[in-house]
Amino acid sequence: MKIYEKAPAKINLMLDVLHKRPDGYHEVEMIMSMVDLSDRLEMSALPGDTIIISSQAGYIPLDEKNLAFQAARLLKDRYDVRSGVHIHLDKKIPVAAGLAGGSSDAAAALRGLNRLWNLGISQEELKKLGEELGSDVPFCITGGTALATGRGEKLTPLSAPPQCWVILAKLPINVSTADVYGRLRADELVSHPSAARMRAAIEQGSFDGVCRELGNVLEDVTLELYPDVAHLKNTMIRLGADGVLMSGSGPTVFGLVSKESKVPRIYNGLRGFCKEVYAVRLLT
Ligand code: ATP
Repeated sequence: MKIYEKAPAKINLMLDVLHKRPDGYHEVEMIMSMVDLSDRLEMSALPGDTIIISSQAGYIPLDEKNLAFQAARLLKDRYDVRSGVHIHLDKKIPVAAGLAGGSSDAAAALRGLNRLWNLGISQEELKKLGEELGSDVPFCITGGTALATGRGEKLTPLSAPPQCWVILAKLPINVSTADVYGRLRADELVSHPSAARMRAAIEQGSFDGVCRELGNVLEDVTLELYPDVAHLKNTMIRLGADGVLMSGSGPTVFGLVSKESKVPRIYNGLRGFCKEVYAVRLLT
């Protein structure tokens, strides 16, 4: 028996860091949306007690460091599952890119294994389990568009933003999320993006409003470390994207575009110097 799950990437329409908490995590406010760029997981039952991870992508760990492995291990331990699984990851989401590829794989593994092993776990419980694997995993369990607070695990579902094209571009730079957060001086930030205003723009179905309210306090940190990312962002603006922002801790930069006729020019203009460019839709 085989189970398939899609694991879509997310983008941050806004990301604010309020302060660093005594437990070391940062208190955040983020509005996240899924986009139609997905990894695909194929899960097959194994007779023994083993967990095997395979992938066509040569650059991710295939051992217990893989988040899909950790998801399987967690379910086996908590629910005393005696059978094993082979999870094949068909990776399409760029790795260490600010698109939550690993978190989405973990969420898809939890959803898929819940079915494969007939565990009957509720979505609420899956989100709690996901929280143990990473702050973005609960959002990846539910998907759609949501406001995330706390360390990213407290979710308020939002209506879908106005449909548009999302052009994603990633330079060959791997950014460490921990490093970017480590360099951020949250108490010295002079301006903050507004979750309330972005939420209002989404609820009003205002594409212009969404573009206007895009903001990410991690952007300045990553752009200072990697000036090429700043150049990529400026190029996307110059090519005519309606709103441009870095996702998560980067380095992926995304542009929102309402008119389909503009997409080829922006896509081709970026492909001139950036190998990884994708034109996708929001998953609404
Ligand atoms: P986030 O936006 O949540 O910070 P990210 O998109 O920046 O995540 P990921 O693609 O999730 O980053 O990868 C971060 C690290 O996690 C990588 O360096 C990789 O070694 C590790 N990792 C573990 N499991 C996976 C997986 N299934 N897919 C991709 N990376 C994984």
